[in-house]
Amino acid sequence: MGDTKKACLICGEELNYLKHGIDMECEFCHKKYNSNASCVHGHYVCDSCHGKQAIERIREICLTSNSTDPLEIAVHMMNDPYVHMHGNEHHVLVGAALLAAFYNAGGKIELTGAFEELRKRGSQVPGGVCGFWGCCGAAVSSGIFISIITGSTPLSIDEWGLANRMTSASLKAIGEVGGARCCKRDSFLAIEQAIYFCREHLGVAMKKSNIQCQFFNRNKQCIGSRCPYNKHYAEF
Ligand SMILES: [Zn+2]
Ligand SMILES: [Zn+2]
Repeated sequence: MGDTKKACLICGEELNYLKHGIDMECEFCHKKYNSNASCVHGHYVCDSCHGKQAIERIREICLTSNSTDPLEIAVHMMNDPYVHMHGNEHHVLVGAALLAAFYNAGGKIELTGAFEELRKRGSQVPGGVCGFWGCCGAAVSSGIFISIITGSTPLSIDEWGLANRMTSASLKAIGEVGGARCCKRDSFLAIEQAIYFCREHLGVAMKKSNIQCQFFNRNKQCIGSRCPYNKHYAEF
């Protein structure tokens, strides 16, 4: 994780950065964009395709994992090279890790359909809403998870209450730590709250591992010793 050099997602070679952007053709959609990063072989992937690939990988892991530990599943997803250090793919990732673990722990859901619904809803939550709306997208993703597994709609009574209380519990935990935002820390906090919430309200016990952040080297705004998951601050 200490390696900050980025590798090409197509061939694994190192990326070259130009001083001035030039038009490059995306390897996936073949649209041209002005960019200043490509690999030594000229491979370039546009932001939109990068995001789509990230969600595809998250989907794959969600549908194939056997784990009942959503934090472990989330770390697996976060380690995929298409998943950025920060980014709105976490608004799908949190709910996807939870759906998978909930299903594997005996939760009665149809996983593929549940993921598709999550993808649709989570993708609508823009980046930066933590700071601009006072409503972190990782927390919203935990609320979407509860909404989907309980079948909540705007007209539901108990399910509506549960979904809103879920988002609120995650936001409280995230808010109490304070910023700057970190999509890893905020995802872990939301997932932990969802584990407690499902035990208490839905009678499904997902496993909860102890997280030690492996991503701090990649986070320019890491809050160090203030982060509940940063046990390595002394080496930082
Ligand atoms: Zn390449
Ligand atoms: Zn593209």
